[in-house]
Amino acid sequence: MSTLAELGEAELLQRLALFAPPGQLEDDTACLAPDPRSLIVNTDVLVDGIHFSDNTTSAGDAGWRAVAANLSDLAASGVTSVDGITVGLVAPGDTRWDWVEGVYGGISSALNQFGGVLLGGDCSAGTNRLLAITALGRLGPLQLLRSGAEPGDVVVTSGAHGLSRLGLALLRQEVDPASAALNKALQARAIQQHRRPVPRFDALNSLLRCKPANLPWRAGGTDSSDGLIAAVQGLCKASGCGVVLQQSEIPRPNGWPQGKRWDHWCLSGGEDFELVLTLPPAWAKAWQIAMPGSHCLGRITEEADQMIWSDGSTLAGSSGFDHFQTGT
Ligand SMILES: [Mg+2]
Repeated sequence: MSTLAELGEAELLQRLALFAPPGQLEDDTACLAPDPRSLIVNTDVLVDGIHFSDNTTSAGDAGWRAVAANLSDLAASGVTSVDGITVGLVAPGDTRWDWVEGVYGGISSALNQFGGVLLGGDCSAGTNRLLAITALGRLGPLQLLRSGAEPGDVVVTSGAHGLSRLGLALLRQEVDPASAALNKALQARAIQQHRRPVPRFDALNSLLRCKPANLPWRAGGTDSSDGLIAAVQGLCKASGCGVVLQQSEIPRPNGWPQGKRWDHWCLSGGEDFELVLTLPPAWAKAWQIAMPGSHCLGRITEEADQMIWSDGSTLAGSSGFDHFQTGT
């Protein structure tokens, strides 16, 4: 099986072009058709040893996760249709072609599922494997910003949290499934969630459909890629508000074990890629009916920077996933 050094750049680019629409990679630029909707852009970088590793992530999963992380940010901004992505690939010359083929296969699968095409990109030799993806999409009627929260809003999330972190722990054999009393279905869901996360365009679409007619298009929002608590803190800081979260409403997955470590993974494990929103109460109520997996967590308050639990204790500091401190 050939390495990238053996293939050479021209052959590599020719092979990668097969993952894009015919002729798309022939030129050094891509042209997007004019569109009255605002263009939303997002870039994410995934580095070998930090965001993926051969021990826990196949090539196909690395490609899928890279796209899913980008598209999750688009969904959490209010993007309802994806134009596509550009991919910057850096890899050592001794990298095997079948790894690169697997990554682009995962990228194609994710784009096929969520929309968009490979618009362009670049490759270079380097000392470490790295994928830099820029995603482009079109804004629907609601732009979700962290600064969009207002006092009185309800904090809602599209699903349970902690599964991705548990999946990583299982793949790294950090937990013994027997001693933690983890049922088989939960383990399978956790590993799937870690390997093939899903950007929540479905949850965004249901949110858009269920807005009460008398309310304006205004809500706060982000995704929980860096952890649920970090997402809530980001919303509060950007909006100059505080929050009271209900301990009884922690969005644990079904069958989730009890205990501090498990609560920590649920609240700050990261890479859950759920929507975290602040909505006027009537809209939050409508969304909970429309989206049975969604959870209402608490209320936004006027007190800037006062981010507390209902018993008065402070939300654990910004203990979300910090790329400069923690490796995968
Ligand atoms: Mg994010």
